[in-house]
This record gives sequence, C-alpha cells and structure tokens, in this order.
Amino acid sequence: VNAIPILCYHGITTEPSDRVAQFAVTPDDFARHMDLLVERGYKCVTMSEHVDDLRSPQMDRSTRTALITFDDGYLDFATVALPILQERQLASTLYVTTGWLNGGTSEPAVRPDDPFLDWSQLPELVEAGVEIGAHSHTHPQMDTLDAAATIYELTRSKALIEDALQSPVRSFAYPHGYNGRRVRRLTEQAGYDSAAGVRNMLSHPGDDPFGLARLMPERTNTVDDVRNWLDGNAPIAPGFESMRTKGWRMYRRTRAIVTRQPGTDYR
Ligand SMILES: [Zn+2]
Repeated sequence: VNAIPILCYHGITTEPSDRVAQFAVTPDDFARHMDLLVERGYKCVTMSEHVDDLRSPQMDRSTRTALITFDDGYLDFATVALPILQERQLASTLYVTTGWLNGGTSEPAVRPDDPFLDWSQLPELVEAGVEIGAHSHTHPQMDTLDAAATIYELTRSKALIEDALQSPVRSFAYPHGYNGRRVRRLTEQAGYDSAAGVRNMLSHPGDDPFGLARLMPERTNTVDDVRNWLDGNAPIAPGFESMRTKGWRMYRRTRAIVTRQPGTDYR
C-alpha cells in the first residue's frame, strides 16, 4: 500500500560499452516499461515534485505515483529516452555527473567510453520538463571519501549545474547508490532536498528523503520483472514511519507541553 516505484535507468541503448552494459536497457524494453506505467495509471512526477508532495499535508494518497530517473548523463537520454517519455507525457529526473558531460570548462573526470550529453543541451531538457539533479562531479564511492572530498562532490556538481541553468538544483543521486548516515547528513547540509540510492525496493512515503530506494532494471531483467515490480511484487523499503506521522507526533508532544497546567502530574 502506498508503495512508490522510483525507476533508475542508465543508458537506453543496444550498444553500451562493456563497463556499463550490465545497466543498459534497450530502447524497445524501455518503451515497454513506460507503456506499463501508462497502462497502470501511474502519475509520473519529477523528484522535486515528489518530495514536495511528501512534505505536504494535502498529499493526495489515492493517486498511484511513480518516478522515472536516469543516472550519469548519457547522450541517449536526449536522443532515445526523452522522445519515448514525451510521446507518453511522462515527467522524469536526470542526475548528471558533472565531470562527465561534454563541453565543460571545469575538471573533466575519468568516465565510461559511452557518448555523453553536452552542457549546452541541459537547458532544452529543462524546457522539455526534465528535472536536472546532481550525481557528483567525479562519480566516486562517496562512503569511502573523507568529509572534505564528500562536500566537494556535493557542492561542485550542484554549483556547476546551477550556473548552467540559473536555477537551484534540489535533487542528488549517490554514485553507485553508496551512502551512509554521514554522507546523507552532508548531502542535506549541502542544500539538497532529497537524495536517491538504489536498494532495489519500492519506495514508501515514509522513506528518508536522503535515502530514497530505487528499482534498477538491468540488462538481465525482463519486461515481466518490471511489470511485477510495478504491480507491487517487490520488497517495500522497510521500517520508516511517514513524515506526516512524525510531524503529527511532534505536534502532539508540543501541544502536550504548552497545555500543561501547574501542579498537574504529567507522567
Ligand atoms: Zn552513476
């Protein structure tokens, strides 16, 4: 109940490099995944729309919500995935590794052999309704970095995209999905509103917004696998109460304090 599929894609191609082949999905399969979302009546929103919904007391819980996200910034997002999304009017979020994009003036990072987007393409993607999030500058395993290097990855990528788009970057995705309590805290302190991992679970309205679970279709997953996930047959991220429940408890505690009368026993 209330499970939220957040799909995580990389390349949408039949010709991935060896390094990313495991995570590439063919254009045909991707289109079929998108058809499944449409057939099931999912409302697809961007990550920022989603976290705004989660934080809103007016969140409409009767709507089936799903998110479509892409990591790294492969060129085929613009040439292959976006036309498929636009045909179906599906919103999406693209997390770019800023050191991997073409045409940048700042430190390029070692990257896979695949074609990547150019910085000059980002504004037209935003025009097309895509939210651009950050995915670090050099794609390290962030849970292995010291605090200074972690902060660099978080803030460098954010600033570069903000300069390119002249608007705030609110969403982050951890490279390789790796994070931990310290990384999550630094991500929040860097000014992001949310961050996504990969946990191969359905997300849940009470997920930690800095540890959102995503489902990652891989080359070996069939369309039936994805159909099963969308029909709720995947583990649901466990153990979290909804933020609204937490907010309600805080309200009740505060109310209990302010309504105390002198001389009353409060145990
Ligand atoms: Zn990545």
